Amino acid sequence: MDFAPSPRVSDLRRRLGAFMEAHVHPAEDEVARWLESRPDRWAAPPPQIEELKRRARAEGLWNLWLTEPGVYDAQAPGLTHLEFAPLAEIMGRSPLAPEVFNCAAPDVGNMELLRCHGSAEQKVRWLTPLLAGEIRSGLALTEPAVASSDATNIEGRIERLGDHLILNARKWWVTGAGDPRCRVLLVMGRIDPAAPPRRQHAILLVPMDAPGVSVRRALPVFGFDHAPQGHMEVHFENVRVPADHLVGAPGEGFGIVRERLAPVRVHQCMHLIGMAEQALALACRRARARAVLGKPLADQGGVLERLADSRVEIDQARLLTLRAAWTLDTQGATEARREIAMAKLAVPAMACRVIDRAIQIHGSLGLCEDTPLARAYAWARALRLADGPDEMHAAQLGRLELAHHQ
Ligand SMILES: Cc1cc2nc3c(=O)[nH]c(=O)nc-3n(C[C@H](O)[C@H](O)[C@H](O)COP(=O)(O)OP(=O)(O)OC[C@H]3O[C@@H](n4cnc5c(N)ncnc54)[C@H](O)[C@@H]3O)c2cc1C
Repeated sequence: MDFAPSPRVSDLRRRLGAFMEAHVHPAEDEVARWLESRPDRWAAPPPQIEELKRRARAEGLWNLWLTEPGVYDAQAPGLTHLEFAPLAEIMGRSPLAPEVFNCAAPDVGNMELLRCHGSAEQKVRWLTPLLAGEIRSGLALTEPAVASSDATNIEGRIERLGDHLILNARKWWVTGAGDPRCRVLLVMGRIDPAAPPRRQHAILLVPMDAPGVSVRRALPVFGFDHAPQGHMEVHFENVRVPADHLVGAPGEGFGIVRERLAPVRVHQCMHLIGMAEQALALACRRARARAVLGKPLADQGGVLERLADSRVEIDQARLLTLRAAWTLDTQGATEARREIAMAKLAVPAMACRVIDRAIQIHGSLGLCEDTPLARAYAWARALRLADGPDEMHAAQLGRLELAHHQ
């Protein structure tokens, strides 16, 4: 593993950093104010985002996650996961940035899934406009009725009727389904109940405007609604789609989703490391600027140790994540399971601790929305559950460790 970035990654880092300073960070307050001024926060995406996307694409800062050069997007540089990692970290410093550069969840995972498993028609209809940033998408896996961290529990039913498929399911926490640009959901359902548990499920492409699809409510995270994308409860009642809307073969759903989540988990970890870096920078600034008992906070007992702990923990987490990215590049998703589980277990917990310390140093200011800390904490905490709870990754890691020492 090489710690020195290649010349093209150094160049992209410089250009991405400059774009963030010049355009993305200055738009953050404007976008928040625009959303606050709307009678319906879900009705339209902020126009500032579409403008930033056009600009990022024109500057060649687009689809940087795409590992395959030239095939799906002639402009995309085709970086490895290890090369993309520091760029994803920079994007993690702003909640707007991943979308601005077309590197946002859940679209990236869905594009990756369609790229690897979609038919030619599915790629034309859904992958092409997703790569162009013209539409958005969601992944509907989790169900309120069952423990969904174990995907073999998923009960939503897909049944055949002639050359069509009928879907009945109740899903929730479907990220992105509140967005008016979200045109398709990839829905996991049980298609073959008689098969072994990991061969029962399939992934179905469901257009948002198909009769029987209804978005019931938004689920805020500690009060943050993440509009206009949101995390929605979505019901599917006798939704009928042609049989060619299945992605991959019936029974492959479980394996496809597991594979899809591997790079996404690495990206999410890098975004969180960027967020933690930003929290530490804010904590340092505040510790210098704020004085109690006649001297800056930075000179009070305990503060330096908190800053040092945060620095050590961020760097440890980054090394774990870079190793996961490198293993994914060199050995593939199955071999990288151990490294990805370690990163996914360590990074959100690290980000929670680092952001929590930064909040404490800020006093009550850290709890309101005058700094990005409260929103960042809510997101880091959510990622101890989203894409699999900590315990699931710990259990997998423990099993691999036992097998290794057999
Ligand atoms: C912000 C956010 C966005 C999300 N986006 C999406 C999305 O786009 N699409 C989607 O389908 N889902 C999404 N989710 C849902 C998320 O993936 C699930 O909540 C998660 O997988 C856990 O499933 P569950 O809530 O059913 O918890 P359960 O499966 O009911 O688990 C509950 C608890 O049991 C414990 N547990 C679980 N497994 C083990 C184990 N092996 N050993 C010991 N203890 C264990 C853990 O403490 C866990 O938190 C999102 C969630 C959040 C918070």
